[in-house]
Amino acid sequence: MNWLERLNAEVITCRKCPRLVAHRERVAREKVRRYRDDEYWGKPIPGFGDPKARLLVVGLAPAAHGGNRTGRIFTGDRSGDFLYAALYRAAFANQPWSGHRDDGLALRECFITAAVRCAPPGNKPTPDELATCRPYLVEEMCLLRSLRIVVVLGRIAFDAFLKAWGDGGRAVPAPRPTFAHGALTKLPDGVLLLASYHPSQQNTQTGRLTSAMFQRIFARARRILAGPRASRPRESKRRNVWKRLPRRRTGLPRAASSGI
Ligand code: SF4
Repeated sequence: MNWLERLNAEVITCRKCPRLVAHRERVAREKVRRYRDDEYWGKPIPGFGDPKARLLVVGLAPAAHGGNRTGRIFTGDRSGDFLYAALYRAAFANQPWSGHRDDGLALRECFITAAVRCAPPGNKPTPDELATCRPYLVEEMCLLRSLRIVVVLGRIAFDAFLKAWGDGGRAVPAPRPTFAHGALTKLPDGVLLLASYHPSQQNTQTGRLTSAMFQRIFARARRILAGPRASRPRESKRRNVWKRLPRRRTGLPRAASSGI
């Protein structure tokens, strides 16, 4: 079992937050009409992606009928469609969509996680719940040894990331950077922090965050990783990259996958 499988196995059995455990399990029992035939995951959602990632994406929390239903982060909802389309365009994902945990989606050089692993009521975790879940984020960040850039989705994830970064023994800039879409901060140890609005429907349906704006975030991350003189990845190069990528099903351990 590698570090990711071990950590994921720990996360998906976690019951530390009574309010969130009750909510995620109630949603999974009651469902919504459009997914009434689905078997909901109803457990915490582990991180997903490449253990050798240079890019870390930090979201807020799973959606009640998205990740909490499908068992994979940003999977089965509109926010995920928005995110994976942008990651695909920047050659971090092998396909521009995510529907369920066995849809063939794979990430390369990218790992996606969240500040809180259980779907919170109203998408609003409490400060205590954020603090209780933070050690999982700290551990992921410590184990992603190739990390060079972190894209945080929304203000809550931005704050959660900085707290986790400090908890992991890494230096945090003083004064603390403030959240703004597109703001890039160089952390004291050289890792870059790039802030983005969260691709929630509240932001995407109002035009606060457009697909072009979101794609520019990940195109910028790609250019940073490629080096100062690199240009935007060309379509033909991106396709070649994915021809060489081994197809993977999921970052979850097998035992957990078969439990759905
Ligand atoms: S939010 Fe995090 S700490 Fe709380 S129950 Fe879920 S996995 Fe555990």
